Amino acid sequence: MRRAGCDENNLDMSDVMCDFCGAEWTLDRPMVEGHRGACICGPCLSIAYTELVMLGTNAAPAGYECRLCLERKADPAWSSPLFDGVHACRQCVKRSAGVLHKDPDIPWRKPDAPGTP
Ligand SMILES: [Zn+2]
Ligand SMILES: [Zn+2]
Repeated sequence: MRRAGCDENNLDMSDVMCDFCGAEWTLDRPMVEGHRGACICGPCLSIAYTELVMLGTNAAPAGYECRLCLERKADPAWSSPLFDGVHACRQCVKRSAGVLHKDPDIPWRKPDAPGTP
């Protein structure tokens, strides 16, 4: 999300905040952007990826709308621990994790599968 009142044509890193935890974008907190300025940060993505993709947890209510792709999905989704009604569908979590994982300038990596050293 964008900080309220920010200048859309002259954005600062600190004007960009994670929709799921509210943290600002910083050099050691990478962000992946979805539709309409929605963002998910690396730390949230680590939790989302672990719970949703590796453990198969589904915390979202039926008929939820994904914050990142704005679609209503029947897929499992991860829900923000802080904000009510903010969900990320499995497809977006996987896609976002892939984006960060592949970027050589960003040290974020997909969490290891349980049991791997
Ligand atoms: Zn976050
Ligand atoms: Zn989505």
